[in-house]
Amino acid sequence: MSETDGKALASELAGRLEAALEAWREALGPAHVVLDPEALEAAETATFATTQRIPALLRPADTAQVQACLRIAQAHRVPVYPVSGGRNWGYGSRVPPGDGSVLLDLGRMDRILEHDEQLAYLTVEPGVTFRQAHAWLRERGSSTFITTIGGSPDASLVGNALERGDGRGPNPDIFQHVCALEVVLPTGERVETGHARFPGARAAPVFRWGLGPVLDGLFSQSSLGVVTRMTFWLSRKQPWFREFFCAVNDDAWLWDAVNRLQALALDGTLKGSLFFWNDLKAFSVAQQYPYASVGRTPLPDWAREQFREGFGRWAISGALSAPDADFGALLEKRLAGALEGAFRPVAFTPGPPDGESPFQ
Ligand SMILES: Cc1cc2nc3c(=O)[nH]c(=O)nc-3n(C[C@H](O)[C@H](O)[C@H](O)COP(=O)(O)OP(=O)(O)OC[C@H]3O[C@@H](n4cnc5c(N)ncnc54)[C@H](O)[C@@H]3O)c2cc1C
Repeated sequence: MSETDGKALASELAGRLEAALEAWREALGPAHVVLDPEALEAAETATFATTQRIPALLRPADTAQVQACLRIAQAHRVPVYPVSGGRNWGYGSRVPPGDGSVLLDLGRMDRILEHDEQLAYLTVEPGVTFRQAHAWLRERGSSTFITTIGGSPDASLVGNALERGDGRGPNPDIFQHVCALEVVLPTGERVETGHARFPGARAAPVFRWGLGPVLDGLFSQSSLGVVTRMTFWLSRKQPWFREFFCAVNDDAWLWDAVNRLQALALDGTLKGSLFFWNDLKAFSVAQQYPYASVGRTPLPDWAREQFREGFGRWAISGALSAPDADFGALLEKRLAGALEGAFRPVAFTPGPPDGESPFQ
């Protein structure tokens, strides 16, 4: 492209953006079309170096405003990138994959729309965070809990599910435990998945399939629409709950243990997430990088060996839960049998006194 053509294109893009900004101000109110350089710079920052520039930040309040935002973007051919919690740390934070995308920040849409204690589900807007959902259920003395993740509590349920996040608890594969999505397509049209598309369909929050092709997966890790509502299936708190941990030094022993644990997962002894961490992963969770004692990266072998001496080469952790202590004791015995001979024998920790373990 010649220099003159380049200038003409840049001026055309700037003109389209200006027209879109004017229409967005009209649709959202000027306060929710953010051009403040500091706010934009923060949004352009990830945990690694990036070069993408964000020309503006849009903050819609509801689905109708999301529809308006996308219609305007489409009309003026300006790319937009949605974020719900914007805490996608390690994977790009809020930075769009392409340069010049306007950020559609759904954080203001933070309403919990529906909860059913008996059927154990929670329907939320995209801005609802793990912290908020946890506190909300707790305040109401709910017997249910939402799967938690290792990331920020201020990450959103919807952003995490769409990224096919994984968590702790009985429903670790989060996208497997959601349904009834409301989605705004790039044209501004609104669709609902599963039974949710039928007005008044009471089974929509618990029956994923509806009729015909299943659409949910189209909107996960894709740019085919902006999700504005989602239902999450909750887990019931169990009266008996134990977390367990053991450390392994011998790789061959680890392989055998994996097979024994797999058998327990298939026969129902172990439900939900099970973690196998190597020493480096455990090290990074247990403490900050030891710059003071080591002074450089990568971690030198002697420091790794020192950590292994106390910790082992591998850690296995997870949780057991049961409806009563007798049943729990049986599960504990079966698990201890499968992990017999570990470098650091399996230890069971009861949940904290308020019954709210990190899993619950
Ligand atoms: C130390 C650490 C530990 C972590 N542990 C875990 C873990 O255990 N499990 C785990 O899953 N993750 C983990 N993460 C990764 C990250 O924190 C999570 O994936 C987090 O849930 C991101 O959520 P968010 O709401 O901030 O996502 P966002 O940044 O809002 O969005 C994530 C992605 O989904 C898209 N998206 C968001 N909302 C919508 C929408 N409404 N419609 C369409 N597309 C949308 C975005 O464009 C983006 O690509 C960890 C991160 C760190 C730093």
